Parts: sequence; C-alpha cells; structure tokens
Amino acid sequence: MRLTPTNTIWMNGEFVPWEEARVHVLTPSLHYGWGVYEGIRAYATADGPAVFRLREHLKRLLDSAHVYLMDPGHTLDRLTEASLELLRRTGLESGYLRPIVYLDYGTMGITPDLDSVRTSIAAWAWGSYLGEKAEQEGCRLTVSSWQRNGANTLPPLAKSTGACVNSSLAKVAALRAGYDDALMLTPSGHVAEASAANLFVVRDGVLHTPPVSDYILPGITRDTIITIARDQGLTVEERSLTRSEIYVADEAFLTGTALELVPVASVDDRPLASAGCGPVTKQLREAFQDVVHGRDERYRGWLSYVR
Ligand code: PMP
Repeated sequence: MRLTPTNTIWMNGEFVPWEEARVHVLTPSLHYGWGVYEGIRAYATADGPAVFRLREHLKRLLDSAHVYLMDPGHTLDRLTEASLELLRRTGLESGYLRPIVYLDYGTMGITPDLDSVRTSIAAWAWGSYLGEKAEQEGCRLTVSSWQRNGANTLPPLAKSTGACVNSSLAKVAALRAGYDDALMLTPSGHVAEASAANLFVVRDGVLHTPPVSDYILPGITRDTIITIARDQGLTVEERSLTRSEIYVADEAFLTGTALELVPVASVDDRPLASAGCGPVTKQLREAFQDVVHGRDERYRGWLSYVR
C-alpha cells in the first residue's frame, strides 16, 4: 500500500509541508523503537468527512505514551483539534490518520531521553487493507509460529512502534506462505489476535472474542462491534480460545481500524462452516458500515465531524 502524499502534516503544534515533515536519522525512536502511535479512520458521511471514535483513539495514544513514560505535552482536546484541522487543510473526504509520539535526536543509547518527546499527525487517503477479494470471500489465516508478546515482554495495551515488529514478523511469514494474515497465539497457547486486528468467532449464534488478559490490543473496532452486537440482542463472550475452536467455528471475522470488518474463510487450510461471509458477520458488517458513515443516529456521538 503506497502512500499518496497530501499537502501538510502536523508536527509539534505546526503545520508543515508534507516533504518537510522529517526526523533525524539518529532519532532514538528509529534505533530502539521507543515510540507510540495510532491508526484512525475518517469516513465520508452525508454531513462531510467525520473521524470515527477520534477521542478514544487519542486517549489510547496518551495511555500508550504514559506506559512508555512519555509526556507529549498536548492535551486530548489539542490533539483532537489538530486532527480535525489537519483534515480541513488536506481536504480529504475520507482517509486514515496516523498520530505518533516519538523521541527527538540528541542522545544515543538504550536509555531514552524522555525530555525530547515529539508528536506529529499525518493523514492520507487509504482504501481496502486486505484487498477486495478477502473482504468479499473472506481471508485465509494461518496460526503463526511467532507468538504474541507476553504481558511482561512488551506491554500489550500500548500501541508501540517497537512492539509492532512482532506483528510484522508474523504477517510477513503468513504472506510468504500464501495466506492473507497471521493469527498469533499467547505463550500459553490461547488465540490472541491477528497481526493488526482482533478476532471474533461465532458458534451457535453466540460471539466469542479473546479477553484483554490474552495479550490483545483492546481494539476500538472490537469495542464497537461488541457494543453494536449487544445492542442487536446478540450475546458476546470475552473468553480464552484455543486454535481448534477457531477451526470448528461457524463463522469468524477480524476487526480493526485499517481492515474494518473482514470475514475469515479458513484457518490453517480448514474452511470454516460459513465458507466466506456468514449471516452474523454480514449483519454486523452492514451495521458497522452504517455506523461509521453516520447513517445510524444512535451512534452519531462516535463521529467527530470535520466541517
Ligand atoms: N491488534 C493489533 C495488534 C493492532 O495493531 C490493531 C490495530 N490498531 C488492532 C488489534 C485493532 O485495533 P483497533 O480496532 O483499535 O484499530
């Protein structure tokens, strides 16, 4: 997925031209992976572009920064306004926002200089993450030999640049083996999540999703789907799952900001009973699309309108 530049990026309180939004090659965030970030989507609605659950994403950014002992020096309100102003200036009708909190260059060594915290927010147009085929027919997953970081290896609740290498190793291996994405297990063998998405399975009409205690990133899309599903009268259980429970699920789907909601067609070459997009998955995907595009009044509070 190549980036299409826009005109500007917000860096530490100022809008700078896209090409000038640079960091030094000796920034410790590049060398040691000490940085935290977010991925947020803005959608076209009948009332113009709107960012989905912007404050929840920025709150998670600040929480991630807190875990990594970084004070960005910008309040939630300030980051919210900067994100909306960025979309106004870029003129994007929909797209993806990438805030990042990182360290400026000046010192070297694995002890981070926590007085040199910087923040920037970029936005660009971004389409389908796993591709149209996977969205329509379901994605093919494989259980990765790379385990999800344990709770005392890297903090799973914090969305950090360094920890992301764990997901990237799993994703690259899955792609090279011919699959669309990887499912990662915890060190004790429970299913955690995909490389950048949470997992839900449907069995006998009930939804099951791994709990936060299984080292998942508690996704904002996951929370959205749990809320919508329960509002529709569905039962959602947060509980530990083994890989074989996924093999025998009626349906399964992935959720995440970038990929949204994508059905799972097979896991480790075992087709799920639904063999593509099952009825519960379809119902939730349609509801999700209505919510993010502002077509469902009940959830309009989750949208921050740009204009
Ligand atoms: N797990 C991981 C490891 C992720 O990187 C992401 C993407 N942020 C998710 C789950 C999904 O989280 P969200 O729905 O908040 O995008």
